[in-house]
Amino acid sequence: MCEMGKIVSAHKMNPMDRRGFLGLSAAAVAAGLWLPESFSPIESAGAADLTLAPGAALKAAASLKPTYPNSVIWNLPSKWPKVAWTVDDGGSQQALHNYIDFAHDTGTRLTFFVTSNNRPWRTLKKELLPLVKTGQVQLANHTKSHLALTKLEGWQIRRELRECRNFIEGEYGVTPAPIFRPPFGYYDKRVRHEAAVGGWHSCVMWYGTLGDGGGITAARRLQLAQQWMTAGHIVIAHANQVTSPYDLRRIRRMLDSRGLRTVTLDDTWRA
Ligand SMILES: [Zn+2]
Repeated sequence: MCEMGKIVSAHKMNPMDRRGFLGLSAAAVAAGLWLPESFSPIESAGAADLTLAPGAALKAAASLKPTYPNSVIWNLPSKWPKVAWTVDDGGSQQALHNYIDFAHDTGTRLTFFVTSNNRPWRTLKKELLPLVKTGQVQLANHTKSHLALTKLEGWQIRRELRECRNFIEGEYGVTPAPIFRPPFGYYDKRVRHEAAVGGWHSCVMWYGTLGDGGGITAARRLQLAQQWMTAGHIVIAHANQVTSPYDLRRIRRMLDSRGLRTVTLDDTWRA
């Protein structure tokens, strides 16, 4: 349960507590974190003006986000109309370029799981960096070499994760969240333990795929997007084979028609 969920009723509070409650509620809603059953947008918007300056409201909202859990993550924590569109690997320069262009043009929020040995993360840095700096695109750890972690020694697992983090910090100037996605989705208890020892305590999986890890037609990809891109889902895609700008926009239009908002994982959790 989120922290705000523990608060029972604004109507039983004294006036000062109630003002603070409503301000925090508005901040939480602004951040897309929480919606109480009896929420009144008009009342809460007014309360936010009364109680919290814009900067303070954002700060308060951020503090309401749950921390990344020490567990395996498959979904977003609520059934809000949000979807986390994640894109892995970056093996193809053209594929990654199309995703970056798409993000620039449409404002779509994406989480990239970086395999840092792949060159496009270096060659496309100039166009990707502004999106990372604003937080519209989140960079997360998908290891240095994309090896099956279940087959590696503990020190090798930690090195794979550490070197990817060092790359992201060195090239993009941001520290990735303490999360990782194991290559191929291969993990076990030992991998999770070794990763946690190194500081990566959340293992991010997915609940739905665009099926583009290998060859796939545009029609099939759209069909999978329609199947899996629903409220609360974390969906996996890959930047290894080219998805055309037209097809990316078709997926985006489908999300819009469903009233779904895209979020990064950092929009949902905090380190
Ligand atoms: Zn991968």
